[in-house]
Amino acid sequence: MNSMETPVLIVGGGPTGLALAADLSAKGVRSVLVETRTEPTAHPRATLLGSRSMEYYRRLGLDDEIVRNSLPREHGYRIVFATRLSGKLLHAHASPSPNEYMAAHREMRTDVPESGWTPYYKVQIGQHALEPIIKRWVLRQGSTDVRYGTEFVSFEQDEQGVSSVIRDLASGRETQVRSRFLVACDGGRSAIKATLGIPYTGRGAMRRNVSYLFRSKAFLEYATAAGWANLYFIFRPGAFGVFTNINGGEIWNYQNYVLDGEAEGSERDPAEQIRDAMGADFPFEILQVMHWSHHQSVADRFRAGNVFLAGDAAHLFCPTGGIGMNTGIADAFDLGWKLTAVLRGWGGPHLLDSYEWERRFVAIRNTIAAAANADRIDAMMKVTPQGLEEETPQGDELRTQFGRRLRQTSRQFNTAGLHLGYRYGDSFIVAADGTAEPPDDPRIVSQSSWPGCRAPHVWLEPGKSTLDLYDGSAYVLVRLPGAPDSAAFGAAADKRGIPFTPADVDERARALYEKALVLVRPDGTVCWRGDAVPEDVDAVWDTVAGFRAPA
Ligand SMILES: Cc1cc2nc3c(=O)[nH]c(=O)nc-3n(C[C@H](O)[C@H](O)[C@H](O)COP(=O)(O)OP(=O)(O)OC[C@H]3O[C@@H](n4cnc5c(N)ncnc54)[C@H](O)[C@@H]3O)c2cc1C
Repeated sequence: MNSMETPVLIVGGGPTGLALAADLSAKGVRSVLVETRTEPTAHPRATLLGSRSMEYYRRLGLDDEIVRNSLPREHGYRIVFATRLSGKLLHAHASPSPNEYMAAHREMRTDVPESGWTPYYKVQIGQHALEPIIKRWVLRQGSTDVRYGTEFVSFEQDEQGVSSVIRDLASGRETQVRSRFLVACDGGRSAIKATLGIPYTGRGAMRRNVSYLFRSKAFLEYATAAGWANLYFIFRPGAFGVFTNINGGEIWNYQNYVLDGEAEGSERDPAEQIRDAMGADFPFEILQVMHWSHHQSVADRFRAGNVFLAGDAAHLFCPTGGIGMNTGIADAFDLGWKLTAVLRGWGGPHLLDSYEWERRFVAIRNTIAAAANADRIDAMMKVTPQGLEEETPQGDELRTQFGRRLRQTSRQFNTAGLHLGYRYGDSFIVAADGTAEPPDDPRIVSQSSWPGCRAPHVWLEPGKSTLDLYDGSAYVLVRLPGAPDSAAFGAAADKRGIPFTPADVDERARALYEKALVLVRPDGTVCWRGDAVPEDVDAVWDTVAGFRAPA
């Protein structure tokens, strides 16, 4: 058997594995990524790339390419509820178009809702379009040995690392891989997680769904009640689901909600269901059918020795709120700098334990919020009245009343706080300062330099955000005007080989950064702040670089 060595072996080339390969590549860390598929996923699956994920990809210079490949940007971000697409409109939820957000950002305006919180709004792009962009970028960097058509077979670990066997599916040839770390980004059916005997905890599998991916150039012509939208919910007694606009005119997905009591496999003919939801016989071609379930499940452990779980291998979601894939991407960007720190010798002995400590609680927070969104939809399904399509004054009144109730579901579309507001305030590698925690509201982002929060976004000049100071390569000490001499921070970091950069910012950052000195770690999280340099700077580094054991 051939053999090879690598610092990090990544299993899975979905959004999580590719994000980790990208982050490690950006830091110049070599890795091997194995993926059984020979091509990126054909099904778009998750279609919402949240603003935090976009901020991470902004670091790699990929944001423009992602936006160019997303849904057309001139349309407002629109979500409609209708009895059928050619039937009766019940409720519509609209936000400004991505172009309006981008104009506000160019002009450094914060008057468009949510534009003060992040350089991005919601970017609608399917995994089929996102994965190739990230994969191409990773290949260009040359640090990752990307092996599609390769199956991860087995592993054994010892204190120094992990010995794995991978198999090239075309030739059947097996290779032994010795790595310092193994990261399981192998999805919800993770064989690595199963081998480790780590269970998921939570509500488990919830509502079943069937997704029909189809092609239709005539879709918008027939969707007369709805017009252009990003998402189209169908609400009618006995018929519930959601259409997703995949590429702005030709490819669509219909996710049909399987109702309680419907037996597995008893679903109606796919074409009949799509026609029924449209309310018209229109031309389309079904490309793919996928059966899947909503979940609220989080693995009990994210680490076992030198093996880590990330993405769906670590947590399974309801898609309501579009947070599942984004939580996996954020796992990758949390783990990437920690693996790098340990491989380069400046990370402390407890740094890697902080991965589970930080990310598991975020996974619990996020899966619960997504499940609550799904519960709201399910509750509305149960009270959807008969008569919504009647052409009578009573029918009009019923639609108005029910449309009002459907507004309750808008929480799942206002999720900026969910995407940007998670924090690691209780983490043992964050130096708490005893001040009050900012509110954690799924809809609203309370930007703050409170230790554990994402360092705030503030425009410093057109096109340049404070976020651009944090490129992932170093800890950054943000210095407000009038900050005291902070050379001691750099001197202590140098002695330990910790990558460190001071960055002076102007008054614009003061309101949100609050303190004269704010230390931001490589993933963009505030890990210490103060108005004066502490007497024992080494104690700060002991904490934030993982030299101090959790209490
Ligand atoms: C039909 C469908 C619709 C969805 N819709 C949404 C949505 O609207 N919103 C949302 O947030 N989420 C949605 N999801 C979930 C979303 O797709 C996942 O959260 C996301 O793909 C997780 O990314 P990942 O990289 O962790 O795992 P995955 O994307 O599952 O990637 C894991 C990869 O590992 C590979 N792999 C597994 N075992 C091995 C092995 N032994 N050797 C080599 N490779 C291996 C697999 O081939 C796969 O490519 C949907 C999922 C499905 C199935």
